[in-house]
Amino acid sequence: MINQTDIDAFEFYNKADLTLTEYQNAAATTAIYPASVQILYPTLGLAGEAGEVANKVKKIVRDGKLDKEAIGSELGDCLWYIAAVCRDLGLNMGEIASDNLAKLAKRRENNTLKGNGDNR
Ligand SMILES: [Mg+2]
Repeated sequence: MINQTDIDAFEFYNKADLTLTEYQNAAATTAIYPASVQILYPTLGLAGEAGEVANKVKKIVRDGKLDKEAIGSELGDCLWYIAAVCRDLGLNMGEIASDNLAKLAKRRENNTLKGNGDNR
């Protein structure tokens, strides 16, 4: 039977402007793996889901058909595992996203968007 908690969750998950921090907190409510495999379990899951994205993209080549909805669903699975890895490491997804944009802006400013190395 559907209760108010389910309705609230449905409305929450339908927010198009969900912040990464809100997402991370909501995703944590469905992380049910044992503490003994924290970090490892979601990292392996992320790799698996990234493979699922790649497989869906491969099917564009094989079948000549783009299934954006399916790819989006797999990207969502990736997002869930990213949230879980972040949670296990005590990292905040919103801060990571912000730091990443700052890093890329610095690379653009230094004209090092192209190239190799983590510390450009
Ligand atoms: Mg998947």
